Amino acid sequence: MKKYIKSIILISIFVMMNFTACAKSKSSAVKPAEAESVSPRTLNPEIEKLNRVLVSMSPRCKAAISNGDAEEFLADLKKVLESRSDFSSDDLSPFYLIDKTHKVSSDYVPKGLIHLEKNNDYAINKNNLSLRPEAFQALATLAKAAKADGVTLTVSSTYRSYEYQKNLFDYWVSVDGLEEAERESARPGTSQHQLGMALDFAPVDDDFDKTPGGKWVYENAAKYGWSLSFPKGYEDVTGYRWECWHFRYIGVEACKFQKKWFSDVQQFMIEFINCWLETN
Ligand SMILES: [Zn+2]
Repeated sequence: MKKYIKSIILISIFVMMNFTACAKSKSSAVKPAEAESVSPRTLNPEIEKLNRVLVSMSPRCKAAISNGDAEEFLADLKKVLESRSDFSSDDLSPFYLIDKTHKVSSDYVPKGLIHLEKNNDYAINKNNLSLRPEAFQALATLAKAAKADGVTLTVSSTYRSYEYQKNLFDYWVSVDGLEEAERESARPGTSQHQLGMALDFAPVDDDFDKTPGGKWVYENAAKYGWSLSFPKGYEDVTGYRWECWHFRYIGVEACKFQKKWFSDVQQFMIEFINCWLETN
């Protein structure tokens, strides 16, 4: 029986190949056949829950999830959920889902924003930059490591208020037109920048990844908990074209989880985590 359950576990992970927004799961008629083929009492409740979450995910996300052992996946998920204790419990979760359809309120401001001052670890190209304390600290750690490797990172954009984002979006619409602006600029209330946990490195253009700073960041950011939010080839998933300069701080465990199980796509992992937390 144990072997049989193990094969079911493996099938379950293979079934991981389809996610839609969690809300859609309620109307989904899809039901994992393998879960019906064995008495529910013989299945680990967490595996059953995993099946319920997986059937609700979009096809693109399921296809991106690596095949593997469900128990190993759940153990990794547990570590990621536990890593939330490294973040303030008094503010939004580090895995808060924010995208074109999931918003934050117009009056949301992260608690304890820390102003970025001129310093020896990294350069800043504006004076009005600030981050949530966890991201502020994580930036310093990242930048110190870069510096030790002879690379100085430049930070260009950090926390943005709802109002600032509104003006920025309107500006890009006036420059590029609505359709193009939507591909690169977030509408107010939908930007990761409002969470105070995301930043743009300079230069903010497609050549950032070819600069010494960009090359170093691509190689090392995840080791320090920073995740590329809008990877190349996933505009239909994230809503934004490739932004090689934009990173979100989610912590080291989540970066590992994202890379190991979610084809290194932050959006898939965060959708999964939110769906998991909303599912009984
Ligand atoms: Zn950005």
